[in-house]
Amino acid sequence: MIPYARQSISKADIDAVSEVLRSDWLTQGPAIGRFEIDVSDYCNARHAVALHSATAALHLSCLALGLQAGDWLWTSTNTFVASANCARYCGANVDFVDIDPETYNISVDALKEKLARAEKKGVLPKIVVPVHFSGHPCDMPAIADLALRYGFRVVEDASHAIGAEVLSGKVGNCRYSDVTVFSFHPVKILTTGEGGMVLTNDDAVAKRLRLLRTHGITRDPGEMTKESEDPWQYEQIELGFNYRMTDIQAALGSSQLVRLDEFISRRVHLARRYQLCLEGLPIKLPRESPEVKSSWHLYVINIDVSKANVSRRQVYDSMREHGVAVNVHYIPVHLQPYYRALGYGEGYCPVAEKYYQQALSLPLFFALTDSEQDLVVDALRKALHA
Ligand SMILES: *Cc1c(COP(=O)(O)O)cnc(C)c1O
Repeated sequence: MIPYARQSISKADIDAVSEVLRSDWLTQGPAIGRFEIDVSDYCNARHAVALHSATAALHLSCLALGLQAGDWLWTSTNTFVASANCARYCGANVDFVDIDPETYNISVDALKEKLARAEKKGVLPKIVVPVHFSGHPCDMPAIADLALRYGFRVVEDASHAIGAEVLSGKVGNCRYSDVTVFSFHPVKILTTGEGGMVLTNDDAVAKRLRLLRTHGITRDPGEMTKESEDPWQYEQIELGFNYRMTDIQAALGSSQLVRLDEFISRRVHLARRYQLCLEGLPIKLPRESPEVKSSWHLYVINIDVSKANVSRRQVYDSMREHGVAVNVHYIPVHLQPYYRALGYGEGYCPVAEKYYQQALSLPLFFALTDSEQDLVVDALRKALHA
């Protein structure tokens, strides 16, 4: 079976992890700080805070930006559930914005209209979470303009987009946002097993994230409520969590980061090759806006049954029978039973719902060979009877 995604682990990665295993520190050691500096340098951001997952990174970002019970967080419905759940962990409400029919990212027009209506009702969001779906960056300058106009904070969910670029540089530079979140789950572009990170240029937010990552405990005399003579003194000054990354994971991350540009070039090559091989088939291919460079986490095609004469489900089954483990990204989050129970349902985000009926993710990962990709293309042609 050719999977839709797979990690690439080199000998150097294994050596880096082994070195940590032989060292004094398995967690809370020097590899974490090194990985944070490596990623913040790569992205050109002031701070990076490593965490045990992107889910933890989204949760702490919301807390650090002050999201509370009664507040609203808005996100795209075409995402993994974690982009929305982070608000619920804080006791806040979630609302969903429909997607752009070309990029499948949050629709800036839909966001604009929804904000104008929300302002009239007096219930504006405190945080908006744009998701760089498939690695294609959202229109961040436009979203940042709206953030200024309506006074919300911006959390970029860049779980798909480490290594992607916009006019101002790499995704993660936080030029147009308060924080940016990366995921290092094995299906993503770069992996630490489980892992996530928050990038920010805001000193106070970075400090808060570090505090919340370790139970709300500080050893900094300047942060303590009273002076102490005792060298072992620490104080818990807030309710935090154990959301730390281990040194084992961080060492893997730093080692993987050395190959990030190579990972991205291979993905770009494979995406171009799909584009050439699939031209002329009765499907819609993904497009890249001229002002961005996608990191190509996913290659999503759209199968319109009226043009292709087969349904997405038929193509899915047929390709799997031919050894190609295609996948679907995403079931709109507002249609999940948990969010239906909060009042959402069919018709709330019609563009994303229609997109979901037709979407299919083809295999795309660093180690996918050209000849394996040819097998994928053949299996797709057979499935489409083309
Ligand atoms: C994978 C993913 C997450 C969650 O990442 P974890 O590191 O597994 O917690 C969040 N948002 C999006 C868009 C994702 O794809």
